[in-house]
Amino acid sequence: MPSNALIKEFQAIVGKENVLESEADRHSYSYDSAVLDPVVPEFAVRPTTSEELGKVVRLCNENGLPVTPRGSGTNLSGGTIPHKGGIVLLTNALNKIVEINEEDLYAVVQPGVVTAKFAAEVAKRGLFYPPDPGSQAVSTLGGNVAENAGGLRGLKYGVTKDYVMGVDFFDVNGELVKSGSRTVKCVTGLNLSALQVASEGTLGVFNEIILKLVPPPAANKAMMALFDDVDKASATVAAIIAAKIVPCTLELLDNVTINLVEDFTKAGLPRDAQAILLIEVDGHPGQVAEEAEKVVAICKKTGATDVKAAKDEAERNKLWEARRAALPALARAKPTTVLEDATVPRSKIPAMIKAINAIAKKYDLTIGTFGHAGDGNLHPTIMCDKRDKNEFHRVEEAVDEIFDVALSFKGTLSGEHGIGLAKAKWLEKETSAATIAYAKALKKAVDPKGILNPGKIIGG
Ligand SMILES: Cc1cc2nc3c(=O)[nH]c(=O)nc-3n(C[C@H](O)[C@H](O)[C@H](O)COP(=O)(O)OP(=O)(O)OC[C@H]3O[C@@H](n4cnc5c(N)ncnc54)[C@H](O)[C@@H]3O)c2cc1C
Repeated sequence: MPSNALIKEFQAIVGKENVLESEADRHSYSYDSAVLDPVVPEFAVRPTTSEELGKVVRLCNENGLPVTPRGSGTNLSGGTIPHKGGIVLLTNALNKIVEINEEDLYAVVQPGVVTAKFAAEVAKRGLFYPPDPGSQAVSTLGGNVAENAGGLRGLKYGVTKDYVMGVDFFDVNGELVKSGSRTVKCVTGLNLSALQVASEGTLGVFNEIILKLVPPPAANKAMMALFDDVDKASATVAAIIAAKIVPCTLELLDNVTINLVEDFTKAGLPRDAQAILLIEVDGHPGQVAEEAEKVVAICKKTGATDVKAAKDEAERNKLWEARRAALPALARAKPTTVLEDATVPRSKIPAMIKAINAIAKKYDLTIGTFGHAGDGNLHPTIMCDKRDKNEFHRVEEAVDEIFDVALSFKGTLSGEHGIGLAKAKWLEKETSAATIAYAKALKKAVDPKGILNPGKIIGG
């Protein structure tokens, strides 16, 4: 427990009102969106300037106090649970868009800027920031970089890492480390920005992030293809890619998900379809028309019972809102929602879906599967009740098996949600003892006292 004198030192840096010590505040920052037990921090600290941020990190290090950075707490892997106590470092007051440069196509932001707000500001200038996690209305850019967040447009446009040109971050001593640049090319020194991406707050605390912007596509066309069989839908994903068409979005929803989304949103999804694919192509208007036509033909050939195209922007928005509602819709079904993001090479999607359905049957569980089928990133979602010990034991076994299948297909434990606390125990299965030893050596070198988000990714 930090002494009163130490609390006063934090108050001297950020002001009394930004050291949050009440019972309610401490509990509010004890959990995130992962299905893990909460851990209550000593208190939370909310810096409002870069200078304060650096001083807070330094003070934590000087006192060996664990520090868990937190954007909006929407991560799904326990990244913001203050596992070893200490303080939660809130970034939500560091929320300035410092610069949007229309000439050189980049922006500089503080870490607490909300993703959708940033994308909207950029769009006002006629530019485009493609990474669009389903949580974008709430998540922060700092959290996105620290998790290397993906989203619905990952297939064509890539994920957060593809837009990070630089990260200025505070090291554990509160010194500002500069990496990357505002230029398209930069090979000056080690690529430390890349090291910060997906580091989950374990290697530094971001102060400012330089993000790449691109021109927006001139046109788009959204479609919904209906299938009476999930296998046909997953085979269609492979067929579209094999035809050398790269839609910006290619999402799959199975029957369980379709029905729960429909209950929630009343978007008009076809309840009797065994699967739907939501597909959007974008680019030059001529190319969009040609690709949309080809996509419809492929869907029909691979067994779609119907393909509906969004007639206007309102219909298009309705489709994407329905897709974005998938997780909240599934989460309404039962008290506990275990959402996984094991990811496989695209060609293995049909086999992966088959395996998930067999696992659901074997463990007598309800699993709804949806996700970014176009990039192999599925979200099998188990609806259960953690208080039912027998059921939850079966859930844990099912998750183990899902990971085993994904790894047997040369897939990965996490396509976008990170390792955090939730998946640390499986890390060696995918990588190797040497990989973990290397990561631990790196961590020890930059954070000898182990105060930066301890316990995440590599355990400890
Ligand atoms: C409904 C829903 C839908 C989602 N959809 C998607 C999706 O489509 N794609 C996807 O990838 N994820 C998705 N997620 C997961 C989540 O939104 C992302 O991981 C997001 O990037 C987290 O952002 P955040 O601001 O909430 O970060 P937090 O959860 O607050 O933090 C995430 C990690 O970032 C670290 N961190 C935060 N700020 C800093 C900083 N300044 N310096 C260093 N480290 C920092 C934290 O310590 C933590 O390890 C979804 C979550 C929900 C609840």
